[in-house]
Amino acid sequence: MERVFIGLGSNLGDRAANLRGALDWMRGRRGMRIIRVSNFLETPPWGLTDQPPFLNAVALIETDIPPLALLDSLKSAEAQLGRRLGERWGPRVIDLDILLYGDAIVEHPRLVIPHPQLLNRDFVVSQLLEVDPDIVFPGRGVLLRELC
Ligand code: ADP
Ligand code: MG
Repeated sequence: MERVFIGLGSNLGDRAANLRGALDWMRGRRGMRIIRVSNFLETPPWGLTDQPPFLNAVALIETDIPPLALLDSLKSAEAQLGRRLGERWGPRVIDLDILLYGDAIVEHPRLVIPHPQLLNRDFVVSQLLEVDPDIVFPGRGVLLRELC
């Protein structure tokens, strides 16, 4: 089993219900177990700033689903939960990102882990540390909390 940190975000509709819906989806999934979830945190929009604020959370799960299969699975969850195409950067019902996957480093056209924006978004780092203060940042052999 790998320890995987998933970033959840929503800025359309009932944002808390959307995050809970995504967590329920994970809970019902074979090969996936939720270990811990951060608080829900309201954050200002990034990218396109002229849009509603986000509600964000981080979940620690244990899974044996390999990285690309997990990405596909999360993409299908986004669709099931009501996300429409063309929402990149813009308002979205739900966004599910793989932040960290064990100590793996992935550089694939469709998947980059650690998530490229992770260290640029203070709220993501603080939610990761809320879930696990002792995360070691892959590749750098250093504690995440010492990187910021
Ligand atoms: P955003 O970058 O705002 O999360 P999307 O959710 O639309 O936008 O994601 C766009 C693409 O980013 C996905 O289709 C996926 O292939 C790619 N991607 C690359 N790395 C990751 C990752 N670590 N987690 C999730 N998606 C990723
Ligand atoms: Mg995404």
